[in-house]
Amino acid sequence: MEPNENIVIVGGGIAGLSVALALHRLGLKSIVLESSDSLRVSGTAFVTWPNAWKALDALGVGHLLRPQYSRLFSREHEVRCLKRRFLLETLAKELPEGTIRFSSKVVSIQKSGYLKELILIDGSILKTKVLIGCDGVNSIVAKWLTFNPPSFTKRSSIRGYVDLKEGHGLNPEFLQFTGHGFRYGIVPCDDTSIYWFFMLSPFYNKDEEIKKYPKKMKQFVLSNLGQVKDNIKSIIEKTAEEDIICSPLTFRPPWELIYGNITKHNVCVAGDAFHPMTPDIGQGACSSLEDAIVLSRCLAQAFSMSAPKQEHLHENIGTCLKMYAKDRKWRCIDLISVAYVVGFVQQTEGKVWNFLRDKLLAPFLANLMLNKSDFDCGLLRIS
Ligand SMILES: Cc1cc2nc3c(=O)[nH]c(=O)nc-3n(C[C@H](O)[C@H](O)[C@H](O)COP(=O)(O)OP(=O)(O)OC[C@H]3O[C@@H](n4cnc5c(N)ncnc54)[C@H](O)[C@@H]3O)c2cc1C
Repeated sequence: MEPNENIVIVGGGIAGLSVALALHRLGLKSIVLESSDSLRVSGTAFVTWPNAWKALDALGVGHLLRPQYSRLFSREHEVRCLKRRFLLETLAKELPEGTIRFSSKVVSIQKSGYLKELILIDGSILKTKVLIGCDGVNSIVAKWLTFNPPSFTKRSSIRGYVDLKEGHGLNPEFLQFTGHGFRYGIVPCDDTSIYWFFMLSPFYNKDEEIKKYPKKMKQFVLSNLGQVKDNIKSIIEKTAEEDIICSPLTFRPPWELIYGNITKHNVCVAGDAFHPMTPDIGQGACSSLEDAIVLSRCLAQAFSMSAPKQEHLHENIGTCLKMYAKDRKWRCIDLISVAYVVGFVQQTEGKVWNFLRDKLLAPFLANLMLNKSDFDCGLLRIS
């Protein structure tokens, strides 16, 4: 007989591990099926806004991360740039042993009465009362919920991470540069390490050679930095090729979330599987942390209701997952739409556009980013 689980999470990225941890904090056991053979730590670093810090505090890991990373910008807003590897390792360490099962790629999902049956790549089968898809932009669970694959923006982003042992000497500020069809940013993580990104507009994105080889990515970025100080150039120069990656920028058109199913019976999605968005307001991972808190609260409610019979528990789960979908839907539609528009404005070239963007829109866009991060997902408590 196949083993039965209460809650199975597909995908051990930021979304999957934070959902598992949030459930654990609420006393619910789950297992995470991850296709890779270890934590997937590619992706260098990313910017975390105040909404992410509220969620990280709710998860009980904020105090473990804060001492490692500099606070950027002003005193009012908590913004830091986190190394992805460190966040994933911190979340994983807080989970009970055996929660994450590596080399466990889910290849098919089937119905089995009230349960969902998952078929893994090695042929093994697992049955579960709740299935949560945290399996990223190419989610098999989102596909099961009949979502289309995300749309490509025809833009890509080259990203890098470098640790300069001698120190970088920069202020803890988010530096952005625009012009000639490019936009790039330099963000200190702490006193020695720096994350940088370089957006490729649709024009340059056609050049497959640039996107294939880190050496070419680095050369391309270096030759398109424009007039910048030598210390900025040397950050790119000193980045090791293995710490440079290029990612296509995709998003889920908002109307798919308006008309589609974020949840169906005992299945739902969270993180990029739910709301892939362009990185222009730096909210993909931050909003995945919000998902984790809201989803876990809803599920904990379903399991806390007394349900002597299987079908009653199934009903409770369905009702509580609908609450999750209702709670998250418009927040995510808003973030996807704003990120897309900001990306469009930032990347569009032309004399008038450049003037409008650099002189008039820049403070507005900066405010918009802060405004979208002004969101409190609440605590891990069930009412
Ligand atoms: C260029 C760029 C810059 C970004 N910058 C920021 C930023 O500054 N701030 C921010 O908040 N966000 C940012 N993001 C977004 C952020 O990276 C994502 O939103 C976040 O990583 C999503 O996490 P996730 O866990 O949902 O998905 P993923 O990180 O993709 O994790 C999915 C996991 O599921 C596993 N998996 C997939 N399929 C299966 C399967 N069938 N079976 C088992 N396992 C499976 C994968 O191996 C993977 O480990 C950026 C994204 C990009 C592309």
